[in-house]
Amino acid sequence: MSETLAVLPAVRQFLGQAHRLWINGRWEESSSGRSMALYNPATAEELCQVQRGTAEDVARAVQAARSAFDDSAWSRMRPRERQNMLWRLADLIERDADILAQIECQNNGKSAAVARAMDVQLCIDFLRYMAGWATKIEGSVPEVSMPLMPDGHFHSFIRREAVGVVGAVVAWNFPLLLACWKLGPALATGCTMVLKPADETPLSALWLARLVEEAGYPAGVFNVVTGVGAEAGAALAANPDVDKLTFTGSTEVGKLIGKAAMDSMTRVTLELGGKSPTIVLADADPAVAAAGAAGAIFFNHGQVCCAGSRLYVHRKHFDNVVSDIAGIANKMKLGNGMDPTVDMGPLVSAKQQQRVFGYIEQGQALGATLACGGGKSGPGYFVQPTVMVDVAQKGPLVQEEIFGPVLVAMPFDDLDEVVRLANDSRYGLGASIWTNNLSEAHRLVPRIKAGSVWVNCHSALDPAMPFGGYKLSGLGREMGAAAIEYYTELKSVVMNV
Ligand code: NAD
Repeated sequence: MSETLAVLPAVRQFLGQAHRLWINGRWEESSSGRSMALYNPATAEELCQVQRGTAEDVARAVQAARSAFDDSAWSRMRPRERQNMLWRLADLIERDADILAQIECQNNGKSAAVARAMDVQLCIDFLRYMAGWATKIEGSVPEVSMPLMPDGHFHSFIRREAVGVVGAVVAWNFPLLLACWKLGPALATGCTMVLKPADETPLSALWLARLVEEAGYPAGVFNVVTGVGAEAGAALAANPDVDKLTFTGSTEVGKLIGKAAMDSMTRVTLELGGKSPTIVLADADPAVAAAGAAGAIFFNHGQVCCAGSRLYVHRKHFDNVVSDIAGIANKMKLGNGMDPTVDMGPLVSAKQQQRVFGYIEQGQALGATLACGGGKSGPGYFVQPTVMVDVAQKGPLVQEEIFGPVLVAMPFDDLDEVVRLANDSRYGLGASIWTNNLSEAHRLVPRIKAGSVWVNCHSALDPAMPFGGYKLSGLGREMGAAAIEYYTELKSVVMNV
């Protein structure tokens, strides 16, 4: 029985209004005079139009962020006040949590109930965690020797200072959460920001800008330019007045952003793609591991950078684990994320749906077989939860990021073999190990080349734990104390007193 939620009046009104860019504390039209359509992925119907921001709009936003960083009340604000401002923003997100969850559902296709419990709640928790950092940013006071100045008396210290204007470009899979992962440390350290949300999912960022306005942030501290990646995103990456770029998205675009950053030595952090292994060892409980592996791939419809998209199961459990996951997949209810009983919504776009089916078809042509799924349902952009076996380790299904609900499963015989297979990837974002043998887990953890390794859980993220990738999965870390380092510069001060 369907128990579809009614669209909240505030959401209905928001979707029906004209959307603008948020620049320098004002809602502005784009210089392009053009807009672009957004679609509800569950119905494939047009949701609303947003502004198609230009390089000129981005330049205005960066100028506003520059002025706010250099001259405004924001730059003179003390850590305690910044902490309180961040806390206030988290409170407003909490107040509007149901609205934001429905906006994510309408714009991205994900379940509103899951978005409320996960995406929005993680934003609130993360901003509060980062509010705490505002008062804990420290330098140090080293004793120096200065051998060339034997008669001097020195007082030396190292200051940790805000990096400045941050340009943030994010993907569509967790639109609000990815924006907050960047906004939190930026505000905690006293930076200012220009955000370019994903082409497909800019709505929650526009609501976030409303909350920034309501919280009373000085003009220019936070700016949002909606638009197309190759236009607005590229203009932000190339703007020499940006002091730091932070990007979440594909490895392909991450490379472009990294190259643009190097032209002006802009600081850069990149959170990129993944093809994370889920490893089920011989001593694991196969039913527990199967449930965990299903969650690792099917959460957020497989559109998770650290999704457990490659499954390696000890040969003695392989058939059982694969058939258990297929059983879980076959029972999953697909539908509109406004229905809280739905287990899986649509993918974000028709393009993403086609891309995923392209991989399934290509894999089958290369000899892979379906243990379950592989089909579509409509009219939205749905893909059935899919498990594929008889796959080749060196083939595209195993080596490339599909970014959809498609799991590829392979057996292994011993630990050395599974370490080799797990690390045989250009990515290195996450990995999970399912085992009841603590010694084996400890021996395996250092051998896995990934930024996060989970034991008997997967995609377990916490504001205190740094997140980021080895290899082509990225550069730098988000969250935790590490994030503060990437939003600050060190200044060495030597005083001859
Ligand atoms: P994408 O790289 O196509 O787009 C990401 C963002 O980059 C969007 O805002 C887009 O507008 C912008 N963009 C596109 N072309 C650009 C250009 N030439 N210059 C500047 N900006 C440009 O990625 P996507 O398809 O939106 O997202 C999926 C990808 O994101 C997957 O690869 C996934 O693994 C990755 N991802 C990584 C993480 C992480 O933390 N590592 C988290 C979520 C998603």
